[in-house]
Amino acid sequence: MSRVIFHRPEDRHRPAPALAPGDAVRDVYGRPLRDLRISVTDRCNFRCTYCMPREVFGSDHAFLPHSALLTFEEITRVAAVAVSQGVRKIRLTGGEPLLRKQIEVLVAMLAQLRGPDGQAPELTLTTNGTLLAKKADALARAGLNRVTVSLDALDDALFERMSDSGVAVATVLAGIDAAARAGLAPVKVNMVVRRGMNDAQILPMARHFRGSGHVLRFIEYMDVGNSNGWRMDEVVTGADIVRLVNDEFPLRPAQAQYRGEVASRWAYADGAGEIGLITSVSQPFCGDCTRLRLSPEGRLFTCLFAEQGHDLRALLRSGAGDQALRDRLAGVWQARGDRYSERRGQAHRDHKIEMSYIGG
Ligand code: SAM
Ligand code: SF4
Ligand code: SF4
Repeated sequence: MSRVIFHRPEDRHRPAPALAPGDAVRDVYGRPLRDLRISVTDRCNFRCTYCMPREVFGSDHAFLPHSALLTFEEITRVAAVAVSQGVRKIRLTGGEPLLRKQIEVLVAMLAQLRGPDGQAPELTLTTNGTLLAKKADALARAGLNRVTVSLDALDDALFERMSDSGVAVATVLAGIDAAARAGLAPVKVNMVVRRGMNDAQILPMARHFRGSGHVLRFIEYMDVGNSNGWRMDEVVTGADIVRLVNDEFPLRPAQAQYRGEVASRWAYADGAGEIGLITSVSQPFCGDCTRLRLSPEGRLFTCLFAEQGHDLRALLRSGAGDQALRDRLAGVWQARGDRYSERRGQAHRDHKIEMSYIGG
């Protein structure tokens, strides 16, 4: 059994405790490494205005060439090392991960991994849902456990405007249903709320997904990347969203299922399921952040708002053994002191990585 040390806020600035056998590797604030988010491509078939605005990601944008991307074997090797050092949950993301050819082959490879306790890590994927109806069965057969589908509006015109894609809402809804039928459930549905853009869709979305078995999660609009022109007054806080939904459908707080759970959970009092709130702006959760991110071309990022990554690809392609990879990964995590969201406003950064490159 691995030993989990829960740190108190006042301990955050103390050095990490020494590692005991079986412990997850810990960063400078004592946060264990538990989650790995793997971005498999920087490309996307959407141009969501808050993520990949077309003015910045136009037809002349230089995406990574295929040769720069980590192969499935390389990704699996990194994931195996991370799982041996405490990772229990792996999320595939992007860009749009279902654009990566034969992504189900990667899923099948990752599904073979086992941690030091013999347990398989939980395998999930975040997608815009456009290709999900086609891919859900193959993904489930390959060993994927669950999916999260992004959907910001039920109104077709608004959805097309926000995703700048020409894709109909019905296509995404069909993807959600196909995923649930394939057993990738409960499906989580992510809605980024941007004031003046889609806040009028909060209640229609809540009405639609209540009682469906899918879990709707409202995400505060974040200042990720450098291209979305984020402004604080466009953020609708989680507290405001809970108040709004609660006025129509009474809610009660639900317990977090595990430490490091990103969403705070609220259950409908009448038993029609639950919603989640991801309040990275109004109530940052850096103290519990256990996520490491791997970019499409093999750089490790210890924070969504990082400016720089740590290259692993050169090491992978130099014929390095697993111990060298383990040392590198542990070194990166142990040096981690990120807590951007807690310091928002104090820590100005000019060159943050883009969300479409590193994933959510
Ligand atoms: N393309 C896939 C998708 O949209 O689900 C996966 C990658 S996308 C970058 C991952 C998540 O990040 C999505 O749920 C998206 O809504 C969210 N996201 C992107 N930009 C955001 C922003 N500025 N603020 C909050 N969430 C954002
Ligand atoms: Fe693409 Fe997802 Fe970003 Fe939208 S949020 S542009 S679907 S990567
Ligand atoms: Fe984690 Fe960075 Fe987000 Fe804080 S700001 S929760 S450290 S990714």
